[in-house]
Amino acid sequence: MDYNNYHGSFGHCNTQDTMKKIAILGAAESGVGTAILAQKEGWEVFVSDMGLIKDDYKKTLTEHNLRWEEGKHTAEEILSADVVVKSPGIPDTAPMVKQLIEKGTPILSELEFAHKYSRGKTVCITGSNGKTTTTTLIYHIMKKWGVDVGLAGNIGRSYALQVAEGDHDWYVLEISSFQLDNMFDFRADVAILMNITPDHLDRYDFNFQNYIDSKMRIIQNQNEDNLFVYWQQDEHIGEELEKRMEGYAPQPTPSSRPAAEGNPALCPFQDRDFETLGLTFSQMGQHNKRNALAAFMAMKSIGVPEKLIRECLEDFPGVEHRLERVCERDGVLWLNDSKATNVDACRVALEAMERPTILIVGGKDKGNDYSTIADLVKEKCCGLCYLGADNTKLHESFDSLGLPVRDTHSMKDCVKACREMAKAGDTVLLSPCCASFDLFKNMEDRGEQFRAEAKG
Ligand code: ADP
Repeated sequence: MDYNNYHGSFGHCNTQDTMKKIAILGAAESGVGTAILAQKEGWEVFVSDMGLIKDDYKKTLTEHNLRWEEGKHTAEEILSADVVVKSPGIPDTAPMVKQLIEKGTPILSELEFAHKYSRGKTVCITGSNGKTTTTTLIYHIMKKWGVDVGLAGNIGRSYALQVAEGDHDWYVLEISSFQLDNMFDFRADVAILMNITPDHLDRYDFNFQNYIDSKMRIIQNQNEDNLFVYWQQDEHIGEELEKRMEGYAPQPTPSSRPAAEGNPALCPFQDRDFETLGLTFSQMGQHNKRNALAAFMAMKSIGVPEKLIRECLEDFPGVEHRLERVCERDGVLWLNDSKATNVDACRVALEAMERPTILIVGGKDKGNDYSTIADLVKEKCCGLCYLGADNTKLHESFDSLGLPVRDTHSMKDCVKACREMAKAGDTVLLSPCCASFDLFKNMEDRGEQFRAEAKG
């Protein structure tokens, strides 16, 4: 992958005669926050979005006297910038980004830019799965610990905006691979890598190693003052880590650690540590035990009292749409796992089921291979309810299992059918394996409709 050639610091920019220009591509939460911080730090700012900017962001930009455009990228404005901050949603193949790479303009992520102006320490969470749960849990623990902490990255309010508004002592940052791709000098005080499984390969030249390299950037620049927490049973992390340890660098990788001196302290954890440590977690499933362990290890390392961490694991309310407990009615437990938009996510949900389960599955299929969960469906389920605009593939994939099956095309009909099928002691699980866009606005809308109907 062609990473742009920025590896240096752009220094500070707050005197008139050295006023430098920053162009910000993408005007949503992170872009608008970056614009406000950059202006405060003395940059000449231009914000550009190829699409339409939401009204409240336009209002904020205008109120701050920031220059912006929508529906286009004006090349002269953007190519004349000294630095560009790009929304993680914009790929390197976008024509404007290509031109910037060719020109050698540093392209940074919001997190890289904001970090340069923050005095706060960071706990940074990445991985293919479990980021949001682990990030939210860590934030929950740090809040209860009583430190001044902000929640940012892929979640919550813009990191840059929080830095501009007065900064925090600590930040818990959920970091995607797309953000990591444009991070260079950033150093995580505590880095957490949950796992690496193939994802977003269309953004990585369909080369899994590129995606792995991106995830491993979470430890770039870390030194002995820093900590790296990771799931030791992951297929890739251990081997990749070895490649990046000081003294071993046969081939520089995009996530080599050129600025690092020394290695971070390593904190690997394994599934069995959960039982060994005698932990209890409010959320169900083996995968959630891993999320709890990562948080436990990271929080212990920064000095949170162990008793408090244990209490927080027990009273953590969970994250919406992720195996969320909706209600228990007439002995039937209703669970909302609308976030499960692929087969793998549904598999971990089914593995966590301890009661006969009626599985709601279906939606916009992204080329799913359902055969990988057929045995698990047979083992865990007592009924299936299909919910999609077109359920043909579901019939072809699951009907032969011989379970009771219902065919529905709206949440109202789906919940009604589940109510008819379920008996006391059963669980109804919405874990659809599919995107939601055929019948719903997004996965949140799907989960909210499910919640309302199940409680109604
Ligand atoms: P992310 O933010 O990385 O998408 P979430 O915490 O939102 O992760 O969880 C999304 C889905 O990923 C969950 O519904 C669950 O199916 C699965 N998941 C969560 N944690 C893990 C984990 N540690 N390992 C594997 N799968 C997980």
